[in-house]
Formats: sequence, structure tokens, C-alpha cells
Amino acid sequence: MTTDTATGSLALLGLPQDDNSTFLRGPRLGPDAIRHAIMCDSANMFAETGCDLGAPGLWHDAGDVALEQLSGVDAYNAIHDRVGRLLEEGNRVFSLGGDHSVSYPAVMAHAGHHSGLNLLHIDAHPDLYDDMGGNPFSHASPFARLMESGKVKRLVQVGIRTLNAHQRAQAERFGVEVHEMRHGLDIGKLRFDGPVYLTLDLDALDPAFAPGVSHHEPGGLSTREVLTIIQEFSGRLVGADLVELNPDRDINGVSAMVAAKLAKEIMARLIATA
Ligand code: MN
Ligand code: MN
Repeated sequence: MTTDTATGSLALLGLPQDDNSTFLRGPRLGPDAIRHAIMCDSANMFAETGCDLGAPGLWHDAGDVALEQLSGVDAYNAIHDRVGRLLEEGNRVFSLGGDHSVSYPAVMAHAGHHSGLNLLHIDAHPDLYDDMGGNPFSHASPFARLMESGKVKRLVQVGIRTLNAHQRAQAERFGVEVHEMRHGLDIGKLRFDGPVYLTLDLDALDPAFAPGVSHHEPGGLSTREVLTIIQEFSGRLVGADLVELNPDRDINGVSAMVAAKLAKEIMARLIATA
């Protein structure tokens, strides 16, 4: 069923990189922690929406991109090329981070296969910094780079509660649709025409639900609210990533299980996409 060599229309890909993090290391340990939690015997393999992820052939584990010795543009290229190859082979790709810097190359690879790509970005942070510590690949900057590329049709952000003056100006400059946490969650507004890539930063959740992240930002989404977004947003999901689990900060593996729960619903929706 879910061996490294099986083929399937959905590929799970680990991106164990955290050297673009600004505060703590640890997210490089995320892919294995999430895999372990997905396969944990404490839960069955059904998504809530009815998809049996234990059934043969629905997905396969494509392993990790070897990033230990790579940084900067080399890491970018390694991720971009691997995701692009999996897409060329007819897979959908669901990437497990790693910090949020991995989304820049992963989304760019998808944009090369899907014109008019929309981004649904769930995060405490807008990640729109023009620059952070002189590193254009910083995990604080992927959505600035993506909007500069001109390859993204719409960027819609949910869960945001850390806007400062610079990032508010960046959001206006790029025409980002920011749904700030303080205004509540209106799922009816999350409607997309054309292909959608979902990028989910685990720190979008309140740290009460997912303490295993590098940046604790109170006042966030509940696990149930994120599940509802994944299940109910209107649009055609063609690719996704789940980033920023930091196992070093987790408590009894509870955040890894939250990540696995969210991952299973994302996988089910990717599999269901026509
Ligand atoms: Mn982020
Ligand atoms: Mn974040």
C-alpha cells in the first residue's frame, strides 16, 4: 500500500529543511514526525470525509529530498526540480516541511504546471517580508518572492494575526487578500476559480492546539476550524504543503498528531480532485 516504491496519483514528499528559519531550528525533523503520526496505530486511516487512506494505490511516500548539505539557491533548485519531476510523472504532490521557506520552490514548480494558480495560505504570519537578515529565502519571505514572480493569480491568507506596518504595505503592494484573525472566520469567502495550492503553516493554529511550532502566536485557529477550511473551501485543490511542525517543541507528540489529522484530510481532498 504505502511503500517507497509504489506509484500512485498522490505523492507524499518530505522537505527536511530549517536553515531558513529566523528563530529556532527543528522543523527539519517534521516530515518523519508527521509520517510516524499518520501511520500511528492510535487512529485509523480514514479521513473524516470517507476516504480510506489505507486502501492500496491511492498515495505513496516519495521519501525526502536530500537537503542536509544544501542551502540557499541549491536547496531551492533541489526542491523545485523534485516536485516538478513528480508532477511531470502525473502525481499530485503533498509536501511535508520543513520550515515555510520550502513552499517557495514547491509552489513555483506547481505554477509551472498549472497556469492561473491560486494560493490558499493558512498561517499566523503573512510571510511577506521583503527581506529577513539579508536572506531572500527566509521562511518570513516566501510569499513576497512568489508574488514578485508574477506566477500566482491570487494569494488568500487566513489566520493572520501578526501584521506590522511593513507587511501590511507589502500585502497592499501585492494585492494579497488577508483575512485577519481578529475579524473571524467566514468560510463562505474562500472561493476560487481555477487550480488551488494549499499551504498550511501549523502555527496558524492557536498554540493551545499545536504547541510544537517555533513561533507561538496566541489567538489562533482551532483544529476544528482548520479542518473545516480544508474540507469546505470552494475550489479545485491541485497541490499542498504542511510546514513548520517543530518536534523539539512538541508535548507528548500532540502537535504531530494534529498535523497528521490535518494531513489526512488534505490527502483525501487531493485524491478526490478530478
Ligand atoms: Mn509561515
Ligand atoms: Mn507562521
